[in-house]
Amino acid sequence: MESGETQRGVPYLCGLCGYLGRSPELSACAACAATGDHLALLDEARAAALSPSLARFLEWDADALAILDRVPEGFVRDLVRRRVEKRAREQGRTAVDRADIETKLGQWSTASVSLTPSLAWEPDAWTRISRVPDSVRGMVIVEVEREARRRGDTSVTAAAIDAAVQRWSAARVFHSAG
Ligand SMILES: [Zn+2]
Repeated sequence: MESGETQRGVPYLCGLCGYLGRSPELSACAACAATGDHLALLDEARAAALSPSLARFLEWDADALAILDRVPEGFVRDLVRRRVEKRAREQGRTAVDRADIETKLGQWSTASVSLTPSLAWEPDAWTRISRVPDSVRGMVIVEVEREARRRGDTSVTAAAIDAAVQRWSAARVFHSAG
């Protein structure tokens, strides 16, 4: 339908928020500002095979935003926002509402109760993660372990948490409603 003019740039899929975009330089995810190896380059055939719903910017309604505001500000809230959007995109949603975020928080809360870390954690690293609220701790454990494995670590150290937070916070620019 569109000319090639709008098809410029390299297709990428953001591993954090699930956004399917194009970037001439692949500097950052256009939806969540994730950078570097969060962004997977795709060839045209693979990009065309993915659902167009992944390429949507998602508006959050007031109820959903109010719930998000209860999550501690900083990388935890950023992660929650990105993971909720990822699921919403994958489900073909056009906007994020209360049910979208409550469902995701519910999953994480359950995980917080039952989750057994899959890597060994250094005591100081575990102390830090213990300060994360119950409702989202399971999510943070999973994400930090993912980062530790990416680094090739066999146990989770405070340094790995620092690096993960740095990566998640590298460019915290989200689309605002304004
Ligand atoms: Zn993203």
